[in-house]
Order: sequence, then structure tokens, then C-alpha cells
Amino acid sequence: MTAPTTEVRNGVYLRDGYRCVMCGALEKTFQHRRAVGMGGSRNVPTAVDGLTLCLTCNVACERELQGKALANGWKVRRWVTAPERVPVYFPHEFAWYRLEGLNRIRISAPVAMEMGCSVYGDEWMQWRLSVIGGAR
Ligand SMILES: [Zn+2]
Repeated sequence: MTAPTTEVRNGVYLRDGYRCVMCGALEKTFQHRRAVGMGGSRNVPTAVDGLTLCLTCNVACERELQGKALANGWKVRRWVTAPERVPVYFPHEFAWYRLEGLNRIRISAPVAMEMGCSVYGDEWMQWRLSVIGGAR
């Protein structure tokens, strides 16, 4: 897996408030939103490919929380070429954001829904329903 540049890494931490996006912990690791294959990716991740997560959440995101991670934009499908089109939910702020380079712009839940659906179609709706319904 190609590591982000120091500039991107630090920019992502700053953008996310130096907190884990999922739980709000003041601990940071760089999470790659786009899953990369076993062979890794030749593309160096950009700011919109990255999120700040604590180590615990980072590991959970890659394993048991995959469905939830997709529904909240913490992960995006490998084929998504423009991860900035997938909104990101910050549970500790109860807020949706869209990422634009090193900025995050707060958006309403309906706008987030529209963005997610424009990328994933009905699949996004299914993920959202399963998260709201309490299933993972
Ligand atoms: Zn966390």
C-alpha cells in the first residue's frame, strides 16, 4: 500500500480536527477510504482518500464494520474513482460532510443521501437502512 505524503497525512489530521472520525478519540492513524488490492496501489492517496481514525476503529473498519463503514463513507468501494463524491459521517459531531481537498464542508442528511445514491444507487439506500435499523 502506498503511503500518503507527509503533507497529505498532516492535512487530513488537521481537516478532521486531530480526532478519530468514528469515535472522536484523540488518537490518529491514516485510514485509506478506498480499499486497495493485495498488490497495493501505485497511486499515492490524496486528502479525499484519507480519514483520521484511531487504531481500534481503523482495524474495525477493515474487518467487522465494513458494512457500516461503507454506509458512512469511511470506506468506499474500490471502483469509486472519485471518493470526494461519497459523503462522510462524523458520529461524534452528528454531522455529514463532503470532502473537498483538505477542507470538509458540512452538508445536510438529505444532501448526503443524494450524494451517496448518485454514486452507489440503491445499494447506498440499503446500507443506510441497515445502519439506521441497528444492523451492522
Ligand atoms: Zn476511533
